[in-house]
Amino acid sequence: MRVKLLRMTEDPEEVLYMASRQCYYPGSVIDFSPDDMEDGTVRSLIDRVFDSGHHSVLEHVTFTFAVDGVSRSLSHQLVRHRIASYSQQSQRYCGIGEAGYVVPPKVGAIPGARLVFEETLSVLEDAYTKLVELGIPAEDARYILPNATFTRVVFTMNIRSLINFFEHRCCMCAQWEIRRMAEEMLRLCRETVPTVFEKVGAKCVTLGYCNEGKKRSCGRAPLKEAVLPS
Ligand SMILES: Cc1cc2nc3c(=O)[nH]c(=O)nc-3n(C[C@H](O)[C@H](O)[C@H](O)COP(=O)(O)OP(=O)(O)OC[C@H]3O[C@@H](n4cnc5c(N)ncnc54)[C@H](O)[C@@H]3O)c2cc1C
Repeated sequence: MRVKLLRMTEDPEEVLYMASRQCYYPGSVIDFSPDDMEDGTVRSLIDRVFDSGHHSVLEHVTFTFAVDGVSRSLSHQLVRHRIASYSQQSQRYCGIGEAGYVVPPKVGAIPGARLVFEETLSVLEDAYTKLVELGIPAEDARYILPNATFTRVVFTMNIRSLINFFEHRCCMCAQWEIRRMAEEMLRLCRETVPTVFEKVGAKCVTLGYCNEGKKRSCGRAPLKEAVLPS
C-alpha cells in the first residue's frame, strides 16, 4: 500500500484562524495580515472551535490523498464516507493493468490458506484474460474479479470529514487494511497541521471512552458505561 498526501490547502492554520476569527471579530479579516497571528492565539482559537463543536470552521481546509496497492474491498469501505470527492482508476478503461492483489495477513500467515487464495486468484485472472480474448469488453469481463484486486484512488476530504473518518477507521473495530491506510493518513496530517490533528484519532481518543460494547472493544479505553452514568 502506498499513501501520499498530494496537496492541501495552502497555509491551513492561517485559513482556520481567519475563518474562526471572523465569527467573533467585529471588523473584517480581509484587513488582517499573517503577522497579526500569534502562535498562542491560533492554538487557542482552534481549541475553542474544537471544544465548542463549532466544526464548520474546519471545513475550509482540505487534503488530497492518493493511494495505490489497496484492494477493491478497501475502496468499497472508503467511498461510504460521503463528505469527500473521489476519482478511482476505471476497470472499464484500464482493465486490471499490471494485475495485483492484496493478500490479507491472516491468509498469508497460513501456507495452506495462502495456496487456496493464490490458486483461486490465478484461475480468476486466467478466466478474465480468456473472456477479454473472446471479445468480451473489460467492463463485462471484470465481473469475475475478486475484492482482493488492486485499485488506485485520489480523494479529497476537509478536516471535519477527516476527523470523522479517523474516528471510525483508526478504531480497532475497523478492518486492518483501511485502518492501516487511515493511520498513515493521520500521520501525514499530524506532520502538516499538528495543532488540529494531535487531538484526533480513533473515536475513543475524542470521546474518552469506547462505545463499541464489551465484546468488540479492544480495551484501549474504558467502556462507555464505566465512564458515563446510565
Ligand atoms: C467498523 C465499521 C463497520 C461498518 N459496518 C458496516 C456494515 O456492516 N454495513 C454498512 O452498510 N456500513 C458499515 N459501515 C459503514 C458506516 O455505517 C458508515 O457508512 C461509514 O463509516 C461512513 O461514515 P459516515 O456516514 O459518518 O461518513 P460520511 O458519509 O462522510 O458522513 C459524515 C457525517 O455527515 C453526516 N451525514 C452525511 N450524510 C448524511 C445524511 N444523508 N443524513 C444525515 N446526516 C448525514 C453524518 O453526521 C455523518 O456522520 C461500517 C463502518 C465501520 C467503521
